Amino acid sequence: AKKIAVKNPVVDLDGDEMTRIIWQKIKDQLILPYLDIEIKYYDLGMESRDNTNDQITLDAAEAIKKYKVGIKCATITPDSARVKEFNLKQKWKSPNGTIRNALNGTVFREPIFIDNVPRFIPAWKKPIIIARHAFGDQYKSTDFEVNGPGKYEVSFTPEGASEATMRKTVYDFKGPGVGLGMFNTKESITAFAHACFKMAIDRKMPLYLGTKSTVISTYDAYWDKIFINLYESEYKGEFEKLGIWYEHRLVDDMVAQLVKMEGGLILALGNMLGDIISDLVAQGCGSLALMSSVLVAKGDSPGEFIYESEAAHGTVTRHFRQHQQGKPTSTNPIASIYAWTRGLIHRAQLDGTPELETFAQNLETACIESVKNGVMTKDLAISIHGSKAGAETYVTTDEYLAEVARRLAKLQAASN
Ligand code: NAD
Repeated sequence: AKKIAVKNPVVDLDGDEMTRIIWQKIKDQLILPYLDIEIKYYDLGMESRDNTNDQITLDAAEAIKKYKVGIKCATITPDSARVKEFNLKQKWKSPNGTIRNALNGTVFREPIFIDNVPRFIPAWKKPIIIARHAFGDQYKSTDFEVNGPGKYEVSFTPEGASEATMRKTVYDFKGPGVGLGMFNTKESITAFAHACFKMAIDRKMPLYLGTKSTVISTYDAYWDKIFINLYESEYKGEFEKLGIWYEHRLVDDMVAQLVKMEGGLILALGNMLGDIISDLVAQGCGSLALMSSVLVAKGDSPGEFIYESEAAHGTVTRHFRQHQQGKPTSTNPIASIYAWTRGLIHRAQLDGTPELETFAQNLETACIESVKNGVMTKDLAISIHGSKAGAETYVTTDEYLAEVARRLAKLQAASN
């Protein structure tokens, strides 16, 4: 069959260990046989990052900015043990953090629901996408311990002024305790809001912002002010056309609703709540291997957005050790495949090529239908049958990929 012409390149960010092995197989068996695509390849494997003094990661981020779509394999974030293992020049920073900072993007995490894979929260059926504003707040705060009675004050001195124009008492300590001062910026919250509105439009789902503005009446309300202003001035028309909406909710009401609802929403949260609630949703959906992740950033020109998609899980080191011993593994490739499909869907939407979007959707369907028909990796067999899942309940990674390839071929033949 004729390959689908992909109009513009995608940036491929290769990674480490088991996911690197799977990454190559995905390209060879599921992507390249169907697409006539220019791939801008960046090797973010541990050795390559060390050899280039991590320049490769910065170059990859620039390439994503240029081509608008990045598709990333899981990578090692080195700790001291890894520094030794790879004999690294230094403990390089997390590539995800480096790319996120370079793009100033927002991470959206979404569990992949499959009917027969049990969820701890069985009500969930439709996508639940958590957007975390991964900048500032508690994670960049200044905190300290006080040893005894005294006054804890905050002050603000405008640039150029010689004296503080604002000074407030935070607390009059009568004895020992702790304090914390934190901040956020209009620029960062605005970029976050744009990414959330854009994601809601792309996915045609309502957007909720969860804050605690009843208690933290200036700090938390600042998010709602920015969101509602942008909504009214730039996005309301398009939202109404699509039949979706934006609403601000108290986060406690929102979480109470979240565990009862079917899903079908995007929930925007600050740094700490986003961290906690995205983990809660990941656990609630049952498997780390079924969690996809997209980074959305605003481009330089108005209305322009940049995407980077990846699996939320790591490089599955334990399986890689087996692979190194020549043993077959039953590692779940679904979230890595979704990194490709979600990236390609954005490519299709940017280029206006519906046949590429259909291909990506067919590939997702092939993954899900395989599992529904009983062909799955061990992690999913365990969540269905329990920890005693026998060898007859699961297949190896290669066998699973072959089944996905077979189903994809059928779906593609039917769509042509
Ligand atoms: P991990 O996600 O690789 O594994 C955590 C647990 O989940 C393990 O028990 C593993 O067997 C299981 N698991 C994860 N994905 C699976 C899959 N696809 N199929 C079957 N089982 C799966 O995390 P880790 O072990 O904490 O870290 C391993 C390496 O990955 C570390 O070097 C870490 O720095 C890196 N890491 C990278 C990313 C990323 O690039 N986004 C995220 C997390 C961890």
